[in-house]
Amino acid sequence: MPKKSIRKAVEFVNPYVPGKTIDEVQEAYGLDEVIKLGSNENPYGPFDNAKEAMIQEIDQLFMYPDREYEDLKVILAEMNGLQHENVALAHGAGGMLETLARTFIEEGDEVILPTQSYGLYREISNLMGAKVIESSLNAEYKIDMKDMMSKFSDKTKLIWMCNPNNPTGTMLDQAMFDVFLEKLPEKAWIIMDEAYIEFSDPAKRIESIDYIKKNKRIIVIRTMSKAFGLAGARIGYAFANKEMIHIIDTVAEPFNANRIGLAGAIATLTKDQKTYEKRLQDIISERENLVQQLTKMGMNCIPTQTNFVFFETGRNASAIGEEMLKRGVIVRPCTGWGYEEAIRVTIGTEYENQRFLEEFGKVIKEIQ
Ligand SMILES: *Cc1c(COP(=O)(O)O)cnc(C)c1O
Repeated sequence: MPKKSIRKAVEFVNPYVPGKTIDEVQEAYGLDEVIKLGSNENPYGPFDNAKEAMIQEIDQLFMYPDREYEDLKVILAEMNGLQHENVALAHGAGGMLETLARTFIEEGDEVILPTQSYGLYREISNLMGAKVIESSLNAEYKIDMKDMMSKFSDKTKLIWMCNPNNPTGTMLDQAMFDVFLEKLPEKAWIIMDEAYIEFSDPAKRIESIDYIKKNKRIIVIRTMSKAFGLAGARIGYAFANKEMIHIIDTVAEPFNANRIGLAGAIATLTKDQKTYEKRLQDIISERENLVQQLTKMGMNCIPTQTNFVFFETGRNASAIGEEMLKRGVIVRPCTGWGYEEAIRVTIGTEYENQRFLEEFGKVIKEIQ
């Protein structure tokens, strides 16, 4: 029935598939304890001061948030050597990505995106009627900038990039990226989604903020959802040149960041730095441990710069995922990206990772 009335482009959009929730799995399998390692959240969040600030903010909820979001913008700008006019906020990075699609894409415009990456890029591009041009990752599970460049045309409007890449955890190479920027078609902008950048080795990062200062056509997206432990509070942001930020803020719906999220984000960044740093280190050292253990079990772990590990199991990943669910551990089989034998697992607490390893060890003995 609604089909007659909706925009044609909507037919080509697939619903976002979130990771399974704890309640869902508890109910389906009658389990007491479920460990969620399927959505790349930070189990240590929200940090204490953020929690307190969010509780305090409840009394203010009868009022709209400050439309300019000045306080948080100033903090984020200063942390990155930018000015607050270089920052736009949104309901999560996801909200920002959608605003960008609406800002740039006209029916028939070409967008280029990595096939094995964050799925939202494709769906919001399709929703806007873009011609989506895909590029497969290379043999090292990295975004293939050479291949993407070969797809550049004068119709290219947007290039969706994910650095480090979800689901593989790999990063872009600086030297190649410089070439990429040089070859960038005239009308094209690069959307650089850095949802996991905080987990990466600073020496391996490309200088995305510097490119903004140099007025390159790049928009950097970040989020409070992953490293900062505030996925449920829905705060994401973009860095770009001032003119572009003004345009983004014009396109975005009014009040696209909520008071609780803003309060939590501000407190996290100003009062919880120590906890943040400690937990970041915990996650990174647990990551190294998990990679070691999985490698010992014969898994092929792709080197990761994120809070998750992507690994090839040599077995049917859906079957593994299903079997793990029965045992109360949610992981992400990567079949939706065409990796039939790969699993993506989030780094949890030490306890959660141990539980994962125990159950995983049993499951791979069962499924050969
Ligand atoms: C989790 C994730 C997002 C979405 O983050 P939110 O801020 O929670 O909307 C965006 N991009 C990538 C690559 C992600 O993994």
